[in-house]
Amino acid sequence: MLKDVFIGLSQNQLLTAAAKRYGLQLGAQSVVAGTNIEETIQTIRDLNAQGISCTIDNLGEFVAEREEATAAKNKILEAIERIHESGVNAHVSLKPTQLGLDIDYDFCYDNLYEITETASKYKMHINIDMEDYAHVQPSYDLLETLTKEFSNIGTVIQSYFYRAAEDVETHRDLRLRIVKGAYKEPVDVAFQTRQEIDENFIALAQDHLLNGKFTSIATHDHHIIEQLIDFIEANNVSHDRFEFQMLYGFRKELQRELVKRGYKVCVYVPFGDDWYAYFMRRLAERPQNLNLVVKQVFTKKTNTIIGLVAGAYALGRLTAKKRK
Ligand SMILES: Cc1cc2nc3c(=O)[nH]c(=O)nc-3n(C[C@H](O)[C@H](O)[C@H](O)COP(=O)(O)OP(=O)(O)OC[C@H]3O[C@@H](n4cnc5c(N)ncnc54)[C@H](O)[C@@H]3O)c2cc1C
Repeated sequence: MLKDVFIGLSQNQLLTAAAKRYGLQLGAQSVVAGTNIEETIQTIRDLNAQGISCTIDNLGEFVAEREEATAAKNKILEAIERIHESGVNAHVSLKPTQLGLDIDYDFCYDNLYEITETASKYKMHINIDMEDYAHVQPSYDLLETLTKEFSNIGTVIQSYFYRAAEDVETHRDLRLRIVKGAYKEPVDVAFQTRQEIDENFIALAQDHLLNGKFTSIATHDHHIIEQLIDFIEANNVSHDRFEFQMLYGFRKELQRELVKRGYKVCVYVPFGDDWYAYFMRRLAERPQNLNLVVKQVFTKKTNTIIGLVAGAYALGRLTAKKRK
């Protein structure tokens, strides 16, 4: 129920726009590295110093205007240049809908092409993040065309989808990030129970660990992590063929412990002012993450935003009921 509320809130355009104006609020500061690339480079340096590599994400998604998609592309290109110049250990994750997938497929492809080509000059990896089900196939189509020319590109497999095992098989030769999946998906395309999603996650990761190019095991779930470590050690999977990935600000102790145990760890570092949808999805995943919000000092600004959030949500529910 709470999950549905936060997923609903994450898709609210009005609140997304309001949040951009207010800057990082509500506790988002602890899970978003900053609003610009310079702050982010400093965060990457700090993580690198602990033996952790990074993948950065210029926050933003479901863009409807060409100018906005072009601006996002330029910000990502700038980030690639800054990563290269500063010599930090980081690569780039991006969302096709931020680069215009909802506007025009070819326009999005051109944006992605320019980014991948620039990154390839520096041997930098580009990861295509996976979004909701409607965007999964078009995103894999973009990827398939790009892999004909570039080898520095990979993607994500969401274990809640029934199609996931087939997608791992299709993309065997790529660097893949395995995740559970962060969006609300219907029963005709996705597993609904935690047990099924977790079991599928483990099966997909094991398959790619043994037969794939490189596996990013992206979860904060220590049960899954320990189960996969047992599998990795039992099957002598080389430590340079996989890594654990976690989101910035989550389970920092576990990240450091894994590094100490000799495993590669990569942290997903989001930055930018379009933090709202990302933050709401984190609240949807784990009610305890609400601690991030309640720990904050309630300033006038945060109260205003909370008021806006509650108001817009109530309005949304009311209109939805009327429509029914
Ligand atoms: C690096 C990375 C990249 C991602 N990229 C994508 C993507 O491209 N597309 C997409 O759809 N989703 C993505 N996700 C989100 C992912 O799909 C999940 O929604 C998210 O990771 C939550 O699931 P989980 O596996 O971390 O654990 P959960 O299912 O949230 O938690 C399972 C258990 O782990 C433990 N646990 C979890 N978090 C904590 C914590 N903070 N402290 C203590 N214990 C905890 C608890 O015991 C909990 O019950 C990404 C996630 C990561 C980490």
